[in-house]
Amino acid sequence: MTEAPQCPICTTPEPLIAEDGFECAACGHAWLPELSDEVHEVRDVNGAVLVAGDDVVVIKELKLNGKSGGVKIGTKIKSIRLVAGDHPIEGKVNGRNIMIIADKVRKA
Ligand SMILES: [Zn+2]
Repeated sequence: MTEAPQCPICTTPEPLIAEDGFECAACGHAWLPELSDEVHEVRDVNGAVLVAGDDVVVIKELKLNGKSGGVKIGTKIKSIRLVAGDHPIEGKVNGRNIMIIADKVRKA
C-alpha cells in the first residue's frame, strides 16, 4: 500500500521508480521514497553521516542566490542544522543563514 508521492519540486505525480528512490519525469529531480517532510540521513562528500550540531568545512565554493561574495572553500560552518529538502544543511556564515547541498561540505 505504498502511495507514490508527487515530485517535491514541480509536484508532477507518478514519478519514475529509480534505483534508489523516485525520479521525476518532468524535471529530473530524484529523491528517496520515504523522504516526505522528515529529515533523512545526510552524508558529507566522504560519506560521513552528519548530525545537527556538527561543524563542517566548505569544499566547493558556494554561490549565494547569484549574489557576489559566495562562501569560499575552507570556510568552517559551526553547529549546522539539518532540514528536509534538496539543501539539507543549514548553517550560519557571516551572520547569514544559508542552505547547503550535502556534497559541498565535509565534516570538520
Ligand atoms: Zn519534478
